[in-house]
Amino acid sequence: MLDIDITQTSTPKEKPRGDLGFGHIFTDHMFLMDYTEDPEKGGHWHDARIVPYGDFTLSPASAVFHYGQEMFEGMKAYKGSTGEVYLFRPEMNAARTNVTNERICIPPIPEADYVQAISALVTLDRDWVPDDPGTSLYIRPFIIATEPYLGVTPSKNFLFAIIMSPSGLYYKNGLEPVSIWVEDAYVRAVRGGVGFAKTGGNYAASLAAQQKAYKAGFDQVLWLDGTERTYIEEVGSMNVFFKVEGKIVTPALNGSILPGITRDSVITLCRDWGYTVEERLLSIDELIAAQQEGILEEAFGTGTAAVITAIGKLHYKGEDFSIGLGDTQGKIGPLSKKLYGALTGIQSGELEDRHSWRVAV
Ligand SMILES: *Cc1c(COP(=O)(O)O)cnc(C)c1O
Repeated sequence: MLDIDITQTSTPKEKPRGDLGFGHIFTDHMFLMDYTEDPEKGGHWHDARIVPYGDFTLSPASAVFHYGQEMFEGMKAYKGSTGEVYLFRPEMNAARTNVTNERICIPPIPEADYVQAISALVTLDRDWVPDDPGTSLYIRPFIIATEPYLGVTPSKNFLFAIIMSPSGLYYKNGLEPVSIWVEDAYVRAVRGGVGFAKTGGNYAASLAAQQKAYKAGFDQVLWLDGTERTYIEEVGSMNVFFKVEGKIVTPALNGSILPGITRDSVITLCRDWGYTVEERLLSIDELIAAQQEGILEEAFGTGTAAVITAIGKLHYKGEDFSIGLGDTQGKIGPLSKKLYGALTGIQSGELEDRHSWRVAV
């Protein structure tokens, strides 16, 4: 149990109205906790506190600015129709944080403390959880290395922070499918690297390909594996699924793919509904062949921010491939729509929560 010291703001902000967008507006408070390596006490997390949202002061020599020793998470709080506030599988974010931390030499945070910190902050700022359909309070926990030292070595000091941002529908055009550029030059991650970890460097490394896709007129990038540029890994910063001849196929977690919580939930729901779900290697050639044979029924990305993102079109080696069959060609398919409805329904308390994924705050 953390002993959290709370200092409330004396100047609460106006709650935003209208289109919230994503990631621009922040709530009244933030959670902070320090890690210090002490010659006597050893390393320990301490001074858990909630304070008014505001700027940090850090030494310019802080390790995070030079070598990127940092991690982040993404999760949401949802408002139910009668005002309850729910988190979705927060213990998975806590566990994934420690998996990331281990890879990049950040000390672990006890999972119960992590979830307690999130719950305490959401409780204090619960009026910031928006209640229009499709809206939610995005929660961004992150940890940065703060030791003021230019040596390349794990930092001795860290700051764990949680900030929150009310967000609207991720895609303004609703569930309209996105167009995807299959990237065969740049790669996002390699096995043995940090692809499975939610650490900033992966995202810095992805920007150039994303820009290339935009310039070519596409919304997002589909990443191929870093060795052979053959096997499908992820799409943008989402996991990716395909429905081929009635079966669901998604790349297996191999070390360079981020283990999404939405991915895990989608696999569970599809199996509940009687689908065969294959987690395996899937080459871009196999996918294109399925499209040519007319058995590629649906393609979609999964992630906390957008939940389900239908893919309408793939561009690979100079050619466009439209996804979907019959009158759903280039449109969101029935399974993608059903998954979006089921996940958002469970998250907001409208649907039965058979797997106990919801946590009331
Ligand atoms: C966060 C993330 C995902 C999705 O994970 P969720 O837990 O479903 O939000 C997928 N891929 C990448 C690269 C990510 O950073």
